[in-house]
Amino acid sequence: MGTKGREIVGMDVDELLGLLNKAFADEWLAHYQYWLGAKLAKGPMKDGVIAELVQHAADELRHADLVSNRIIQLGGEPVTSPEDWYKHTNCGYDPPTDPYVRVLLEQNIKGEQCAIGVYQSLAQKTREADPITYELALQILSDEVEHEEDLQALLEDLDLMVQRQ
Ligand code: FE
Ligand code: FE
Ligand code: MG
Repeated sequence: MGTKGREIVGMDVDELLGLLNKAFADEWLAHYQYWLGAKLAKGPMKDGVIAELVQHAADELRHADLVSNRIIQLGGEPVTSPEDWYKHTNCGYDPPTDPYVRVLLEQNIKGEQCAIGVYQSLAQKTREADPITYELALQILSDEVEHEEDLQALLEDLDLMVQRQ
């Protein structure tokens, strides 16, 4: 922990660490949801959908890495047990029990929309108080916005294809 680095944070650091750990739990659950969905996906445009899910799984893991680095920098401890991910998560986990591509896309769009809300709120709370976390939140927010659009574009293509058959 950097003592001066922690001192300059203009908000309650424990509250901030709580928010960061909630986002950290979200990222692991999102990573797993994409990772497993990519293994199981079935249906039209499967290859394109799988490629996107694999890419997003990697992005969510990278987000978990970024968020955990900030938690450690602030003297906190990233959630240590996977069983606690459920206690902290904002966005939850939708198991890919139905492997049809459309269902997977819809589940993950819902997850992205939740993530957008989480990082938008983190950005708003840290904008003045903690520019470092603010910048991190913006960086991740822009990925989540891209993820939502990627998935919605696939869903649109899928609908066009199914309609014209
Ligand atoms: Fe993410
Ligand atoms: Fe995402
Ligand atoms: Mg993408």
